[in-house]
Amino acid sequence: MRIEGIPASAGYAEGPLFDLDRPLAVYEGKTSAAEEKAALKAAIDKAASRLTSLVEAADGDAAGILEFQIAMLEDDALSGPAFGSIGLGQPADAAWRQALDVEIAGYEASDQDYFRARAADLRDIRDQVLWALSEHGEAAAPAGAILYGEDIAPTRFLETDWSSGGGIALKAGSTASHVAMLARSRGVPMVVGLGTPAEKPAGVALLDAEHGGIVLSPSPAEVEAFRRSSSAFAARQGKAQTFLAQPAATKAGTAVRVQVNIADPSDVDGIDIATCDGVGLMRTEFLFGKSLPDEETQYRAYRKVLEWAGDKPVTIRTVDAGGDKPVPGFTVEETNPFLGLRGIRLSLARLDIFRMQIRALLRAAVHGNLKVMFPMIATAEEYAQAAALFAEEQTAFAARGVAHKLPPLGIMVEVPSVAIAPEAFAKVAFFSIGSNDLTQYVMAAARDNASVAHLNSVRHPAVLRLIASVAAFGREKGIPVSLCGDAGGDPAAIPALLEAGLRDLSVAPAQLAMAKAAIADVSV
Ligand code: PEP
Ligand code: MG
Repeated sequence: MRIEGIPASAGYAEGPLFDLDRPLAVYEGKTSAAEEKAALKAAIDKAASRLTSLVEAADGDAAGILEFQIAMLEDDALSGPAFGSIGLGQPADAAWRQALDVEIAGYEASDQDYFRARAADLRDIRDQVLWALSEHGEAAAPAGAILYGEDIAPTRFLETDWSSGGGIALKAGSTASHVAMLARSRGVPMVVGLGTPAEKPAGVALLDAEHGGIVLSPSPAEVEAFRRSSSAFAARQGKAQTFLAQPAATKAGTAVRVQVNIADPSDVDGIDIATCDGVGLMRTEFLFGKSLPDEETQYRAYRKVLEWAGDKPVTIRTVDAGGDKPVPGFTVEETNPFLGLRGIRLSLARLDIFRMQIRALLRAAVHGNLKVMFPMIATAEEYAQAAALFAEEQTAFAARGVAHKLPPLGIMVEVPSVAIAPEAFAKVAFFSIGSNDLTQYVMAAARDNASVAHLNSVRHPAVLRLIASVAAFGREKGIPVSLCGDAGGDPAAIPALLEAGLRDLSVAPAQLAMAKAAIADVSV
């Protein structure tokens, strides 16, 4: 039986399933509230010192995650409610679980992947203290196992020895979680969103994290086919790594710029700037999570990325809330949000919020090579209004003597009206094709609906023809054209994109090597 999921870290793993959701050992209650409090305090200390010893063995990104967890554990705001409940007669384990579950529910309710993904860190902290309370160590997974369950804790990932293979298969999970990030940077195959099968699976399974699926109780023919795909993937990967350090070029020697797409400023921590040509898209929606970010928070986030990139360009997109990215307190309820008040339309309707982002961008611009682009532009008037707001805020800064710089202003090409009639935009500084939205609007097939996924193809001639005509218009007018949709990192789409005339792609960091390798295989 094959179950389909979403690939979070490409690769293949064959091995026994290890159940991540086995029940915890039982906590033996104490006789007084004072003893319960002491037990909880000791368990928190024990969990913290276990994390501290893991930090010593960890490198950059992993150490950052563990330090974040230690800081959370040491924060009285997290443990305070638990100690309060013990005072009211609750045993330590129930009090701790309840206090943490409230926090976890808050993160899980967020509309932002980034915040939902942090819920996994809190569950990890909760379970580590519960394990410490019950004084039983966790059973380790056998070498090469596929860790299977609802979700997986970052510490569990870091404690696992991946040197003999293995992988992660999650019923829920998120491609934006810390573990997914770690898995991508360590090359551990991972699939999320597998759902819950009717029967509890066991035994050996085949994890295909290249396409996103798992085969349970495989037949010999399935094992054989899987091993073929797995070795072909390993061969492609080995070859791809040799491309990472080189500038990208086709077989015919045509240079292609390859930039990266990021969302959180911390995404750049795991990327060597020498391996890419800059940031082609920084999505800023993540900053607009639970509460709207103030100017200072935004300024710091943008500045961090600009300083990391040095003199390479960083293209930051103004907030693209709405559609599949609702933001509480900002977006509005709509029956058809993909065709509603989304992206630049919403920003122009909420000038207080838009002006704050513009001020943060103008100030950050002095720290690097910033370019700014507007999402979901459909008409030249929208671009003109947005550009006028930049000019107004710039004048105000100049009058007050605030350090700032006006960045080049470009637009996303993701609404068909722009791709069909680009001549209205001859004044923009650059175009960036958003193939995710362009495809869904051209094909009338929602990007988040699996039942119409077969229609949602960037390689449909209608989509490719529009991309080619935008590229040609850019060449004719001297306007740079890049592409920052997911198709840019898809080896299967890259040949068609280069044939359509594109020479500038922006891809997910994990796809950099494979994208460069795919470019080297094209003859244009
Ligand atoms: C796109 O539409 O291709 C794009 C890059 O923007 P997003 O996926 O954030 O809508
Ligand atoms: Mg888009």
